Order: sequence, then structure tokens, then C-alpha cells
Amino acid sequence: MTAHLTRDGIGCVVSGGSQEARVEHDRLFERLWSGAAPMEEWTQAVSSGAITAVADNVVTVHTTYFCGSVTAIRTAAGLVLIDTANAERAGKTFAAIRRWDASPVHTVIYTHGHIDHTGGIGVIDADARARGVPPPRVIAHRDVRRRLERYLATQGFNSVVQGQQFNQPNYIYPVGQRAPDEVYDDTLSLTIGGERFELFHGRGETDDATFVWLPERRVLASGDFVIWMFPNAGNPRKVQRYAAEWAEALRRMQALKPEVLVPGHGPVIFGAARAAQVLDDGATLLESLVTQTLALMNRGSTLDEVLRGVSAPAALLAKPYLRPQYDDPEFLVHAMWHLYGGWFDGNPAHLKPAPAAELAAELAMLAGGADRLAARAAALAEAGRTRLAAHLAEFAAAAVPHDTAIQGTRAMVLERCIERETSLMGKAFLAVYQRDAKARSER
Ligand SMILES: [Zn+2]
Repeated sequence: MTAHLTRDGIGCVVSGGSQEARVEHDRLFERLWSGAAPMEEWTQAVSSGAITAVADNVVTVHTTYFCGSVTAIRTAAGLVLIDTANAERAGKTFAAIRRWDASPVHTVIYTHGHIDHTGGIGVIDADARARGVPPPRVIAHRDVRRRLERYLATQGFNSVVQGQQFNQPNYIYPVGQRAPDEVYDDTLSLTIGGERFELFHGRGETDDATFVWLPERRVLASGDFVIWMFPNAGNPRKVQRYAAEWAEALRRMQALKPEVLVPGHGPVIFGAARAAQVLDDGATLLESLVTQTLALMNRGSTLDEVLRGVSAPAALLAKPYLRPQYDDPEFLVHAMWHLYGGWFDGNPAHLKPAPAAELAAELAMLAGGADRLAARAAALAEAGRTRLAAHLAEFAAAAVPHDTAIQGTRAMVLERCIERETSLMGKAFLAVYQRDAKARSER
């Protein structure tokens, strides 16, 4: 099997090995790159465990967009793996690697501590046990350890939030991934079995992130700094994310001038020009949002003014690898406000607010009843003014929580909100309350 780097810089899927499969994947890549194909089509194409030949002795394995990819490097000392996939996908991923190379795993590098990148370590350790060889050494940034400790402290909360976001009631957040054996702070240079690795720390989606540079091959494994989507730096129910430092990390990657860019999620990007374009566009988009947000904050604006005043460059948001389909620029502005300015939004009523039910009852009384609030909410929603409608519907329901008709209106209003919402995250969290309202309306 040889690496397949055509003149126009397109990679290949070698799973199954046929020329037709390669040509088909190259065609699919071009359609993803142009924006003609949705990522779901790629997920479908790689679902049985697809291997992309990245360079001689380097492959990346994918099983879906939604789980982190795994890159394997063959060295004289054994395999080095970048990430492990999640517990569920690791078996299929590891089997694909084993079809390519049967030697023991020497080292595993976690690009960060998220479970879709670390959860497969158990499968890799079990493979070592079965062979009677020592488990691989795990290397990561120092803060991965702290993250794994935090997962123990907040397992209940993470279970609730993850269950909400993916609509899996009773979901239990997996804990107990093996912590790294060796950690580093800023950079780490390694030579393993004759192969050079340079690890760089940056903060972006997480505080514990690493990107990996193979200098002799000019291959960059970006981890989740590149995910074929708008940067996931604003998730409403997750710990702090770091938009400005994310942009800095992308600039550092760009300066390395990679020939091949292996993203944390989505297909491998071949060719220096395309790699540079993806890194530059991502950095430019984030820099724009950071600059605009800080400019308004530095003038003393309230959160509301910042949210209304910042706009993401439309041409960048339209790029197939930056579309805000998962996270949303508005959520990212919230996260930056929180990072630089704490939780107070600049509205004095929100510093020590009245109980929500008390405020709602007062407004319902002034409006002439909760029914009138609900009726106005319904009219606004039908007119497409869903943001405003949601406020009134929530006030009506908070004033009279057990009114099935009001809950029915609330469910309808939230349904309209979901229809207009473009981000998966936004849709998912709105749906939590839409389901609640629907259930209450039927009691
Ligand atoms: Zn990930």
C-alpha cells in the first residue's frame, strides 16, 4: 500500500484497497470541499472504518464525523497513535489499524481529554494485555489530568447536559479513562523509533489541547482546532472555551506550512494551499469575532449591546469547513463575555433578580392574564418573531405552570424557534424544553 498524493493534492481511502473506492472518495472530498455534499454523506461513506493514507507509514482512520479521528504512525519502536476514538468506536477503528499494521502500540498521544478522543484507550490497553506486552505510554498536556479529575466531580451534571444535548434520558457520562503517564506544558519534542514528533499546547475548544507536527513529513494533526465546522467555542452548557487563543493556535499551525492537515473531525486535507486556506480562514473568522467583542466591551457596552453589535463575516461562515451547523457565533460571543467579563450582563435587574415565577406573575397580571401573554406569544411566533415569542411564552408558563393550553402554546412557540435555529446545539437545547412543554400540555 502506498500513500496516494496526486498532483492536485487529494487523498484517498484505501479501505478495501480498490482503485474505484479511492476515486469515489476523492470525488466525495471535492464535493465536500466545494460545499456540494453534506458531511452526513462522508459519515455514511466511512462508517465501516475507512483508512486514509496520509504519508508513507502514516494513516488516519475514520468511522463517522461525530467521533474524533485516529492517526497511526508506524515507527521502528512500534505504533504511535494520535487519539483513540471513543469507547464505542474504538473497536472498529483499532481493527482497521490492525489490518494495516499488527505491531504493538508504543505511545498514545491525546490531543485533548474529550471522551471521543480518549475513550478508546481501554480497547488499546486490552490489545496489549492480550499480546502480553506492556500497555502503551500515554502522553498529553498537563491539564488533561485536571480535566479527568473534574469529570469525576461533575459526572452528574455532565450526564444531564450530554443526555439533553443528544436526547438520551438517563445517559451516564463515562468516566475513568486512563490518565496520561507523561505530561508537558508548552511544547514537547519526541523521537520514537526514528520518527520525530513535535507537540504544541494551545487553548481553544478546551484548555488542555495539543496539536502534533511531524516535521520531516510536514504532516499536522490539528486535534479539534480544525473540525470542518464553525469553531466549537461557545457551547452554552460546557466549561469555558478560548476563541482568541484558538485563533493564535491556528496561526502557529499556519506558520508551520503543513503539506497535509489531519483535522480532529472530518476528512484529511491534502496540499499546502488548501491546508493554509483552512487554517487562515478559521483564524480570520475567530479574530474578527474576538476583535469586535473586545472593542465593544472596552467601551463599556452591556452584553445585550455586544450581542447585537457583533456580526460574523458572512463570506467566512459560508465556507464548507466553517459553517455554523453545530455551534453558533452568538454563543461564542457569550463565551467571550464570560471569559473577559464574568457572568453579570450589565442589566441592573439581573444582578440580584426577583424569583422568575414572581416576575412572570406580575407581568401576567399587568397583561390581563397569562392567557394574553400566551396568545401574543403565539401571534409573534407565527409572524416569525420567535425570539420575542419565546420570552412571552416562558413568562406565561412560569406564571401558571399547570395550564395545559399555555403549555401547548409554549410547545408550539419553541417548535417555531427550533425551525429557525441553524445550530445543532441551539436546536438540541430548545428541544429539551419543547418536549417538556408538549408533555405538560397533554397532562
Ligand atoms: Zn472531538
